[in-house]
Amino acid sequence: MILENIRLENYRNYTEVFAEFDPGVNLLVGQNAQGKTNLLEAVAFLGSGRAFRTQKSAELVKFGADFAQLEGNVFSQERQQNLKWVLFSASRPRQLYRNGAKKKTAADISGVLQTVLFCPEDLMVLKTGASARRRLADNAICQLRPNYEAALLEYNRILEQKNRILKDRHENPALLEILPEYNARLCQVGALLISYRARFFEGLGREAAEFHKSFSGGKEDFSLSYKTVSTISDPFAPVILLEQKLQEHLESHYRAELESSACLTGPHKDDFDVTLSGISLKAFGSQGQVRTAAVSLKLAQRTLMEKESGEIPVLLLDDVLSELDPSRQDFVLNQISRGQVFITSCEPGRFTKLGKTIEIEQGAIL
Ligand code: ATP
Ligand code: MG
Repeated sequence: MILENIRLENYRNYTEVFAEFDPGVNLLVGQNAQGKTNLLEAVAFLGSGRAFRTQKSAELVKFGADFAQLEGNVFSQERQQNLKWVLFSASRPRQLYRNGAKKKTAADISGVLQTVLFCPEDLMVLKTGASARRRLADNAICQLRPNYEAALLEYNRILEQKNRILKDRHENPALLEILPEYNARLCQVGALLISYRARFFEGLGREAAEFHKSFSGGKEDFSLSYKTVSTISDPFAPVILLEQKLQEHLESHYRAELESSACLTGPHKDDFDVTLSGISLKAFGSQGQVRTAAVSLKLAQRTLMEKESGEIPVLLLDDVLSELDPSRQDFVLNQISRGQVFITSCEPGRFTKLGKTIEIEQGAIL
């Protein structure tokens, strides 16, 4: 899939801009705070309805403006397609159009423009907190499986309500009566999430192991394992069984949840771990090993999406190349010889031989 152009109006620090892109490498260069990441974010948002730095679409609207528009032409699924979003600064529902026809949710444009973002924080994702790893996985699965996002939103909504019940029941003990209802629903939707994640991690681990093998010259054996609630020994089990196991885990933590007034069990605590030749990266990995494995994971995500949809997702590298040493840079650059890539960099000239260079200054394209 190729993003041919984009038009932004009142998006972040862009007042009005139109940019045409190369089907290969697009290098976005400019000083700090000029709008490079904002443009990458806009590309990712156009295809997914999700911005990687915020949950609130009002933040994407230029300060002082009432609404923002993003529009782009994409060549994918063997035809030219147009995507358009209108976002409002007030709490008004956002609007989405595909080829001029109004659509309800991002699931309705699933597969038109898929992106894989790689930013410097991702380089340490295997060392830092579990929430960053969950975000990485959720982001990928949302794009791969249109129904996953609805389940995830539903799960988070119930979770928030349950948290509120646990906190407010001190003042209002009657709230405890409705808790079982929320727990049941949480297990139902949670089981679905686990089922999707199990399949995703299996594929991701398989692809990443391939990349890591060639990356490390066959020296290190990469293995990824998905960690969910302890009562689930087989996350590939039928969803109905997963639901029972989640319920069991919840029941055994009932007291602890009341005492701590927090939801302690469920897939919102999920994680994954990577081992290299049997040794956990999180606990023992060197900086270089952790970074190399992170590169393998990102490239794997792209391959996995390509295998699923038959189209190469657009790769967004935000400042990541300059964070890598020359041998790792070369590895990435060799792997991205196919497909469309956007690379941001503050250092003009460094990667300019790669493709089209787009200079960005104060929310304008020079
Ligand atoms: P760096 O090289 O430091 O990463 P960058 O070019 O990637 O810089 P961006 O993250 O794209 O910079 O941000 C550019 C500017 O956009 C920031 O100064 C930020 O304050 C501004 N900005 C962010 N959101 C909005 C908004 N809603 N309205 C107006 N300006 C905004
Ligand atoms: Mg930036």
